[in-house]
Amino acid sequence: MIVMKFGGSSVANAERINSVISILQTRIENNENISVVFSAFQSVTDSLIDIGNLALKRNAAYKSKLKTLTQLHFEAINELNYGRDISILQYKAESLFDELSEILHGVFLVKELTAKSLDYIVSFGERLSCTIITESMINRGIDCEYLNASQIIKTDNDFGKARVNFKLTNRNIKAYFKKHKMIQIVTGFISSTEENEITTLGRGGSDYTAAIIGASIDADAIEIWTDVDGILTADPRKVADAFSLKSVTYEEAMELSHFGAKVIYPPTMLPALDKKIKIIIKNTFNPEAAGTTIVEKSREQTTDSASDISNDSEEFFIKGISSIDNVSLIRVQGSGMIGVSGIASRLFTALALHKINIILITQASSEHSICLAVLPEHGEKSKAILKNEFRLELLDKIIGEISVEDNLSIIAVVGEKMRHSPGIAGKIFMALGDNAININAIAQGSSELNISLVINKDDLSKALNAIHSKILKRQ
Ligand code: ADP
Ligand code: ASP
Ligand code: MG
Repeated sequence: MIVMKFGGSSVANAERINSVISILQTRIENNENISVVFSAFQSVTDSLIDIGNLALKRNAAYKSKLKTLTQLHFEAINELNYGRDISILQYKAESLFDELSEILHGVFLVKELTAKSLDYIVSFGERLSCTIITESMINRGIDCEYLNASQIIKTDNDFGKARVNFKLTNRNIKAYFKKHKMIQIVTGFISSTEENEITTLGRGGSDYTAAIIGASIDADAIEIWTDVDGILTADPRKVADAFSLKSVTYEEAMELSHFGAKVIYPPTMLPALDKKIKIIIKNTFNPEAAGTTIVEKSREQTTDSASDISNDSEEFFIKGISSIDNVSLIRVQGSGMIGVSGIASRLFTALALHKINIILITQASSEHSICLAVLPEHGEKSKAILKNEFRLELLDKIIGEISVEDNLSIIAVVGEKMRHSPGIAGKIFMALGDNAININAIAQGSSELNISLVINKDDLSKALNAIHSKILKRQ
């Protein structure tokens, strides 16, 4: 079995959906056993969030936006099924839109939009896309079945980014797939609590759905179909010279995506790694391209023969560069901190209690200061939390200052072989130095898989391009 997943850009309109259906038909003709996960149509999740918030603010514009969204889906229904009977599909889509508009009306009336109701609202994106695709495939004579994954993927009740209960989920998936032998058209991104309330797996979470299902049924591969030729050495929107990688390891993919490479959702790698199932990233718009394979060991680590090493990035120590464009840096400093144990652990605990995610941490070897990168919306809040946590240390001058600095970016340079190559850091600093780019903080992951740099946001584009051309130029 191969679990395939197509993202929003692959299903942006009827024409693109038709291309996806042809890709699937070829696979079916080749007697391949497939299950297919779909995201909502492009931008639909964003629109649903926007509409929910407008309803909350009692802004009547939510109705016209809902109408536009309805039209978009009905246009796809009509175009995909031109000359065919659409009565069943029309009925199903209308029922979904009726249900959605009732919920939105409720939000409008009670002026309340909880994380729980927002998850329910966004779930319509995937429920609609998969309903439309399933019925359009059936209309073409392809035997397939709609699967609302929220019935089998079970999570806690952390709405917006729920954690999967794998024990329950794996049991459900196995039992479901044992009974259903037809091609499954599966809603990505959505899940539910044990009480059957809809949850979501976090933005971009359809990739994760594919991996959860793939790992549970011991799939031969998990294929993530998107709009680029695989994982590239950098975000192609920021570095024009970025090129596609043949293979990366699960850890490298996780590290690149954690630091901003949107092409794959970071948790996706975990279920796949657990079962050693390869993930292949492919381009829906260029299916001939090989794409990138995510495996346990990338190619250059498995070969002993230098002649086997191709003339592309595989021989490079660095696999790629990614970035988080906007972060804030919290600096906790004071000469009294030297040798005082427990400060770092209290700092993590205090922020964790408020659900603040720390993206990066660095500690100067003198222990004179600890820097933490957080999302900008958490900057001032983190400072206030830490000022409260360390109020006695601040009074006693053990800690001199807790400050927050905004408008920064993080660049992460990732590659497993970096640990054997002491010269890499030097090259990175040289690339930045040559361009007069100041580094605010540096961190190296303990695995030495990653060197992260905090720089001014204004320098991001220049820095990415300078580092890329210094260490990742295609030969
Ligand atoms: P999908 O809709 O298929 O889920 P996404 O928009 O989530 O697609 O992810 C694909 C996008 O990720 C690409 O169009 C590209 O702009 C962006 N991206 C960022 N960094 C990278 C990278 N290192 N390699 C490939 N794509 C990247
Ligand atoms: N539709 C969801 C989102 O936009 C999930 C996904 O695209 O993977 O976040
Ligand atoms: Mg995505």
